[in-house]
Amino acid sequence: MRALFLDRDGIINRDYGYVSKIEKFVFTDGIFEFLQLFISKGYTLFIVTNQSGIGRGYYSEDDFKVLTQWMIRSFKENNISIEEVYYCPHAPEQNCKCRKPSIGMITQALNTYPIDLESSWMIGDKDSDIMLARNATIAHTIFIGEESHPNALFSFGSVAEAKIYFELNKEKIHG
Ligand SMILES: [Mg+2]
Ligand SMILES: [Zn+2]
Repeated sequence: MRALFLDRDGIINRDYGYVSKIEKFVFTDGIFEFLQLFISKGYTLFIVTNQSGIGRGYYSEDDFKVLTQWMIRSFKENNISIEEVYYCPHAPEQNCKCRKPSIGMITQALNTYPIDLESSWMIGDKDSDIMLARNATIAHTIFIGEESHPNALFSFGSVAEAKIYFELNKEKIHG
């Protein structure tokens, strides 16, 4: 199985910091088309997201789940199915094994799905996303940010730019 691992805040939705409510959840431009491209290439989608706002007490695990259900429904309406949403609810000082760049969430996915990391991808907007991919040996990485990331295979200024690039270069999406 080929997996596309997705960070959430800054990739799926605009990152206003600790987004926990539907009213604050705005999908990034191009994300639906970007994901549909990977689906058309046979990829299964997994979200891996640090949600330290839970551990810090900014919002509850239930708030997160309500928002997640709504997000998944919105994706479904756009013919996008998310296989699983993995999240780390811990604050950094809890020293858990799931907070990115630790690989706990990827280990969880590997325990359930026969994922081939060599043909899998990770997209994120933080160094911890790219380091997660490195630590877990996810072969292909896309960084979204103002500057390119030295360890990422691809860097783009926005998800919309990534979408345009891969639409024009579909053959780059391979295992
Ligand atoms: Mg992010
Ligand atoms: Zn954790």
